[in-house]
Amino acid sequence: MSARRGENACLYERIRLTDVIVKAYSRDTMPSGAGAYSVCVPNRAEVDVPSESAVAKMPPEMRGILNRLEGHECAHLLWTMCKDMAAHEKQQQYLMTAAGKVMPDHFHKFFNIVEDPRIERILCDWKQGMESGFGEMIEQFWQAGDMAYVKTQDMEECLQLYLLLAGRCRYHHVDVMRADVLAARQDLMQYVSEKVVDRIDSLLHDVVMTGRPEDVDSASVLRNTCHVMDCVAEMLKLCGLDAVDQSQQNQQSQGQDSQQNQQSQSQDSQQNQQSQSQDSQPEPTAEEQADADSLRAAPPENKGQVNWDPDQRMGQGGELLKNIAEELGKAVAQLQQEADRNGTVSPVVQEQWGGSFGGECKPHKPDPDYWSPKSLKDYHPQGEQLFKSRLVGKVLRQTSFNTGSIRKWGKAYSASVMGRQIPSDAMRKFRVQQDHGNDVDIVLDASGSMRDKSCPEKSRMLVALPVAWSIHKTLLAVPHVTCRVTTYSFDETHVLLKQHERVPFSTAASRYTALGGTPTHLGITESMQSLLSRPGRNKLMLVVTDGEARNDDWAVRAVRTAQARGIHVIMVFIGGVSKTTRSVYDGVCDCVDVPDMAGFENAMYRQLAQVI
Ligand SMILES: [Zn+2]
Repeated sequence: MSARRGENACLYERIRLTDVIVKAYSRDTMPSGAGAYSVCVPNRAEVDVPSESAVAKMPPEMRGILNRLEGHECAHLLWTMCKDMAAHEKQQQYLMTAAGKVMPDHFHKFFNIVEDPRIERILCDWKQGMESGFGEMIEQFWQAGDMAYVKTQDMEECLQLYLLLAGRCRYHHVDVMRADVLAARQDLMQYVSEKVVDRIDSLLHDVVMTGRPEDVDSASVLRNTCHVMDCVAEMLKLCGLDAVDQSQQNQQSQGQDSQQNQQSQSQDSQQNQQSQSQDSQPEPTAEEQADADSLRAAPPENKGQVNWDPDQRMGQGGELLKNIAEELGKAVAQLQQEADRNGTVSPVVQEQWGGSFGGECKPHKPDPDYWSPKSLKDYHPQGEQLFKSRLVGKVLRQTSFNTGSIRKWGKAYSASVMGRQIPSDAMRKFRVQQDHGNDVDIVLDASGSMRDKSCPEKSRMLVALPVAWSIHKTLLAVPHVTCRVTTYSFDETHVLLKQHERVPFSTAASRYTALGGTPTHLGITESMQSLLSRPGRNKLMLVVTDGEARNDDWAVRAVRTAQARGIHVIMVFIGGVSKTTRSVYDGVCDCVDVPDMAGFENAMYRQLAQVI
C-alpha cells in the first residue's frame, strides 16, 4: 500500500488493518465529475486521488475539499466494501436482486445516494470533529449550485433528489439547504401522500443510522449494506417504482434475506426509532416555506437536470469540482514545466509511478536456485570480435582526425583489448572532445516472463544476459565510452554491470534474477538519469524486453522524456512482440523485433554500431 501523508493517513492505516491492500493512485487531473474515486473490489481495492504535489500547490479551501473526498472514498473501502471475495460476491448478487425488477443501475444509484450519508455518519462517529468539515464542504457544493434543488422531470428523479438533499442536509447539519429539502419534499408529495414521505424519512433515518465504526469486517459490512438495500427497495416499492412484473421468486428470496437482516439489525433499529422520535423534523419556518415556494416556481430555463449519482455522475452538476479540476490541471502543468526546465521528471509523474522512483539503483540479489554460473564461465560471444574490429577502424579514424597522434593511441587501445591496463598518461591524450564520446545503457527486463524454468535454454534471460555482458566487456576497451547494464522488475531497478566494471560472466549471471512485474518506465527513467549524468555526447539506451510493460502509457511517457533529453532509445523485443505492444512504441522510438532469439546478438551489435 502506498503510504499517504496528510489527514487521511489513519484511514489508510485502518484499511490496511482490515487486510485489504489499497493502491492509492495519484491522478494528474481529475475529470470534472470526481474529486476522488475508489474501486470497491477487495482483490484490487484502490483509491484514486489527485497528486499530492499538485494538491499542495492549490488554494487551501480546495485542498480541504479534495482531502475530504479522499476520506470519503476510504470510508467506502471500510464500510461499503466486504473484505473477502466471497462476501463481496454475495453483496453484488444482493444488489442485483434486492429490488426485483428495478434496473440494477437505477437501484445502484439509489443505493449510492443513501450509502454516502451513512458512511459519512459512521466516519464522523469514529473521528469526532470531521462532521464540521464535511458540512462546510456540502455548503460549498450548495453555493456552487451543485447540490441544490432543481426542478425534476419525473418521480424517480424527484425521489433521488429528495434523498440526496435530505441526507446531506439533515445528517450533516447544513441548515442553509433546508428550503431546498422542503421544495424537493413538496415535489415528492405531488406523487405520493405525506404519510408515504414520512415513511421514506424514517427509512432514510434507518439507513443513515445503520452500522458502527467497528463494523469493518466482511460479515458486518454485508449485513449492513444488505439492510440499506432492503430499505431502498422498500422506498422504491412505496413510490411504486418497483416494476409491476416483479417475479414471485425474487420476492420470496428477498423476503427471507430481509428477515435475516432485520433480526441482525434489531438493536440498531430500536435505537433508530428512539432517536427518530426525539429527532423529528422541525416544522419549516415561514421564511423557509417562502424560499421553497420560490425555488419551485422559478422558470424552467434556470433549472438543471437531476440525475445524480453522487459517485459516478457528479460531472452533470459539479461546478465546484470542475473549478477544482481546472486549478489542479494548472498546478500539474506548472510542475511539468518546472520539471522540463530542470530536465527532471515531474513529482506528479513520480507519484504516479510510485515504487522506488528516484531511489538508488540497487545491487542485484543472486538467485542460486536458477543459475549454475560455473557452466557458463567460458562464454565467448561471436559478434564481439567483429564489432571490435569495426570499432577499431572507426575509432582510430576519429581519433587520428581529432588528435593526430594515432600510433600511441593504437598501442594503448590494443593493450586494453588484450586486457591490460591503459597507461593513464596515454588516456589523457585522448580525452573526450566536446563533440564526441558515447554513453550506453542496456536496460534488461527482469520480469518473470524472461525466464523459463522448465527449459532454461529457451529462457530469454539466458540469451539476453551473455550478449549484454559481452557488449559491456567490449565497450570497456573503447575510449570515451561508458556502459552499464541494468535490470528492472517489481518496483525496482538494479545495476547488473556498473560503468568500467570488469567482472567474469558468472558474476554477472549471479546478479540477474527474473522475477516479478514489468515496470519498464522505471528502468527507462533510472537509465535516463544515469546517462544524463555521464560525459559522452551521444547517449544510447537499448531496452531489452519481451513484451508488455505494466503500464504502456507510463513506459511511452518515459521513452518520450528520455528522447526529449537527447537520448536515443531503442526498444529491442526479444522473442518477438505482439502487434498491439509494437504499435504502442511505433512512432515514439526505434523498435527492433527479434522473434528468433538466435539473431539477438547480431541485432544488438547492429544497433550499437549505428551509434558508436
Ligand atoms: Zn460515495
